[in-house]
Amino acid sequence: MLSHDVLIIGAGLAGMRAAVAVPSHLNVGVISKVHPVRSHSVAAEGGINAAINDADTWESHMYDTVKGSDWLGDQDAIEILCKSAPEDIMTLERMGALFSRDPEGRIAQRNFGGLGFPRTCYVSDRTGHALVHLLYEQLVKCEAKVYEEWYVTSLIVEEGQCCGVIALNLFTGELTTIRAKAVIMATGGYGRVYLTSTNGLINTGDGMAMAYRAGVPLQDMEFVQFHPTTLKSTGILITEGARGEGGYLFNSRGERFMRVYAPNALELASRDVVSRAEYQEILEGRGVDGCVMLDLRHLGKEKIMEKLPQIWELSITYAGVDPIEAPIPVTPGVHYSMGGIPTNVNCETPLPGLYAAGECACASVHGANRLGGNALMETIVYGRRAGEFASEYADGKTLVQVSGRTLIHEKARIATLMSVKNGEKIGVLREAIGTTMAEHFGILRTQERMDAGIEKLKKIRARIPNIGLQDHGKVFNLELVDALQLQSIIDLAETMAIGAAVRKESRGAHSRPDFPDRNDKDWMKHTLAYQTASGLRLEYKDVTITKIPPAERKY
Ligand SMILES: Cc1cc2nc3c(=O)[nH]c(=O)nc-3n(C[C@H](O)[C@H](O)[C@H](O)COP(=O)(O)OP(=O)(O)OC[C@H]3O[C@@H](n4cnc5c(N)ncnc54)[C@H](O)[C@@H]3O)c2cc1C
Repeated sequence: MLSHDVLIIGAGLAGMRAAVAVPSHLNVGVISKVHPVRSHSVAAEGGINAAINDADTWESHMYDTVKGSDWLGDQDAIEILCKSAPEDIMTLERMGALFSRDPEGRIAQRNFGGLGFPRTCYVSDRTGHALVHLLYEQLVKCEAKVYEEWYVTSLIVEEGQCCGVIALNLFTGELTTIRAKAVIMATGGYGRVYLTSTNGLINTGDGMAMAYRAGVPLQDMEFVQFHPTTLKSTGILITEGARGEGGYLFNSRGERFMRVYAPNALELASRDVVSRAEYQEILEGRGVDGCVMLDLRHLGKEKIMEKLPQIWELSITYAGVDPIEAPIPVTPGVHYSMGGIPTNVNCETPLPGLYAAGECACASVHGANRLGGNALMETIVYGRRAGEFASEYADGKTLVQVSGRTLIHEKARIATLMSVKNGEKIGVLREAIGTTMAEHFGILRTQERMDAGIEKLKKIRARIPNIGLQDHGKVFNLELVDALQLQSIIDLAETMAIGAAVRKESRGAHSRPDFPDRNDKDWMKHTLAYQTASGLRLEYKDVTITKIPPAERKY
């Protein structure tokens, strides 16, 4: 039977950073449903935040992050993120990260939304690409065993602890038990629960769903980030770096409408604020074909080609617009999962032996709204910490005997999926969930709309047992993977929908015209959604406030 001291699910930045942090005397395994460099982290564009300038401080980074989170972020976790960020950036630099430089030769930093200082380090507008390839080199160097194109279906829990996983080898179709002393979940976000998203098609939130099914609650799932600038009709991200470098937003009347919504920060207010403003402009008839316009022309060709070459290319290829000559049509789009598997600052989840880091985790450093550039930093700081703390836990421990119960259960689950002939099509149900989420749990949410959305999701869930697969083969049966992902997506959609319908306030990305204000008295608390035999149960837990008392949020 396969076994490891530390087993990491996910080979994005969080998973690879964790693997590299495991000391060499421990045996580390990394599983990924795609080749590591195809993980969504590779698509990150604009940059990574750290207070490395002498005129900047981690305290100021912390303040911006707490304010950005609309006071739902846990301040102990945010403090660790901001304090550790400069040293972690230097570690990446020493590993060989090719950060863009300023004229003096120091690591260049650009403006990003919600930041009081130009704090975002970057590699042109391809930061994720550079960092993923850097960490992949490190992963190869540390000789971790990489299970590439293996799909994890379930966690194994015995004697109240996580002691391994069941994984499907996509090459052979075999379902295998992999035991481990400690498991780290680093499976990324759930953007693809929605129909259109900036996220890769693989971002189906599997890890969150696996933890949920294993009895771990999911935290703050109602907080979904809508990024202000996604390319018209495609969901493709146009980095915040475009506004950070000086881009303007205009409505159909040629007005720089952010002057009304955020008189000080303008286009560089936090993402929830800018997305709501755009949505309002479009709703009130000042949009352009369902979009607003992002204007970069005044930056000039040289700056666009140096700082934003990928944006130039994406706009031309997918919208037929050359940003040097014309404004880019953009619209808010689903981008990031603030919620996830709850962890403490040592990346421990409520299930002993299970750790989590990166977008699938909720530490919670982003609270109700994440600041651009903080997700990549979280993958690095908390990925490293997950590797360190999981190693400490695994060191000296013995492997738990596994009973085989979970393997039998998962074999039966797959056999059932394979047995239905001429059943419902997976794609139809995926689309139904994605559309329901977009229509009922979008930027502005009312009770009536959300309740109607929950009813729709219930009806879709009832149809899922009828799905039928056309591919009954073993080798690379991606239809089977789609079916398993669908089962995860419906679980996650429900946690997001019910958490949202119950939270009667507006905070960060969760915005309700029927409850327009933040309500600290009743709602300054984290939502915890549990899966139980009788359906979903919600509990709540306090937010950790250490240094920065709640205040009104204005930009
Ligand atoms: C287009 C785009 C641009 C972005 N730009 C920025 C930016 O400039 N700055 C910033 O701070 N943030 C940015 N973000 C957010 C940031 O990139 C992500 O939050 C972060 O990279 C997530 O990293 P991760 O390691 O947690 O997950 P991912 O990189 O998503 O990796 C998840 C891994 O889990 C594996 N996996 C998942 N499920 C399974 C399973 N069932 N079995 C086996 N393996 C599995 C996948 O194969 C993959 O290897 C951007 C996001 C997007 C979508």
